[in-house]
Amino acid sequence: MKSLLQKIFGRSRAAAEASQASEVVIATRPRQFLLTEAVLRAIADGLSDSRVMEEEKIVFLFGTVTEEVNLVAALFKPRAQTTYGSFHVSKLAMAEVVRTASRLGMEVVGQVHTHPGEAYHSGGDDDGTHIAYPGFLSVVVPNFGCDLPSLKGAAFYVCTGRGAFERIPDDQVLTISTYLEP
Ligand SMILES: [Zn+2]
Repeated sequence: MKSLLQKIFGRSRAAAEASQASEVVIATRPRQFLLTEAVLRAIADGLSDSRVMEEEKIVFLFGTVTEEVNLVAALFKPRAQTTYGSFHVSKLAMAEVVRTASRLGMEVVGQVHTHPGEAYHSGGDDDGTHIAYPGFLSVVVPNFGCDLPSLKGAAFYVCTGRGAFERIPDDQVLTISTYLEP
């Protein structure tokens, strides 16, 4: 009987420890998304025709991913069909995106697209994001990107798996200087 109680107690303590351990995992620092100033300027260039043509435009972010950070080093503007309120990147064009990243030794770590008005991840955006692994960043820029390179008013989303996106606080996305000194 005693050994049975010990077993039960031991098991419940193990369960308590396991639940504490999972709390610790949840409490870890949120993932950070680092964009360099050079990348931000490139995003402004890559999306500048959105304002001119009054159409949604999209660029993909190339870089590297760890458990703590997505570091963006370059961007890629795909072939895309675009209208005032939508964009579509074909499977063939998507393959081009992935192939180019891989050829350069990088990963596709996120995407940025413009909206005519307000910045939010629409249902179409959730479904239309061909690359969606946990940690993939999706940025929506308002007003056809007229404030770029400033990301003022932009909305940041991270993929939480199975094509679902969750909005993240602005301070998880940092712009870092390209030229650093002591
Ligand atoms: Zn959208």
